[in-house]
Amino acid sequence: MNQINQYRRKLLGAASAAFAGLTIAPGIVLQTAQARNDDEAVTSEQRWGLLIDTNLCEPGCTDCVKACNKEHGLREIHGTETDAQWIRKVSLKNNKTGHVLNMPVMCQHCAEPPCVDVCPTGASFKRADGIVLVDKHICIGCRYCMMACPYKARNFIHEKLTDQLPHAPRGKGTVESCTLCVHRIDRGENNTACAEACPNGAMTFGDLKDPDSDISQKLAEQGGVELRAKLKLDTGVRYQGVPG
Ligand code: SF4
Ligand code: SF4
Repeated sequence: MNQINQYRRKLLGAASAAFAGLTIAPGIVLQTAQARNDDEAVTSEQRWGLLIDTNLCEPGCTDCVKACNKEHGLREIHGTETDAQWIRKVSLKNNKTGHVLNMPVMCQHCAEPPCVDVCPTGASFKRADGIVLVDKHICIGCRYCMMACPYKARNFIHEKLTDQLPHAPRGKGTVESCTLCVHRIDRGENNTACAEACPNGAMTFGDLKDPDSDISQKLAEQGGVELRAKLKLDTGVRYQGVPG
């Protein structure tokens, strides 16, 4: 895919998102993922999300983190530390019961994203299908979005980068975060690198608007909560085993 087409896709996605406004009314759409042509607009027929069952997330396991790093060419700098972290493992202890929750946290792909609200150039944008991205071409590195994100999901790139992967362009002086593996989605693949790597199947990727998708079925049957739900950001990433 050439750069013009990539940029056109981003513009079309952003324009569709603007047109769709911030309405995330659940639609009943029976449609499976399929690869889009380069000049085809992203639509709001899907809303992509992840459901994470913390009961299945092993303490100490970082397979999802390693898979994301590899998928996007994040560079190792010290030991296992990378030049950015799009997904991190978090442990939360309930002091009353002693129970420890383990969970991966990444960009939550908010329907009402504060990062997009504060971005002065429009570099932070939400696609019509709910994926929140940063357009590296117009990010000026002001980092307002990093301050606005309640999940500390964004990274600033300080160093010059080399050997970037074609599907994951990155840039010194710009901000980046989990893309929900948008390159896979646009190729018509129906899973993210992190979900694929989890040995326990703790992460389910899919279309929140499709009532027949695995993610919708699990949410309907077992429920799922948003982290920091009181903020009412309507996140695309949901969790099970976390108190609501
Ligand atoms: Fe933006 Fe943070 Fe929400 Fe992701 S989690 S959409 S970076 S505010
Ligand atoms: Fe990384 Fe993709 Fe998982 Fe996001 S969805 S944390 S980009 S592997």
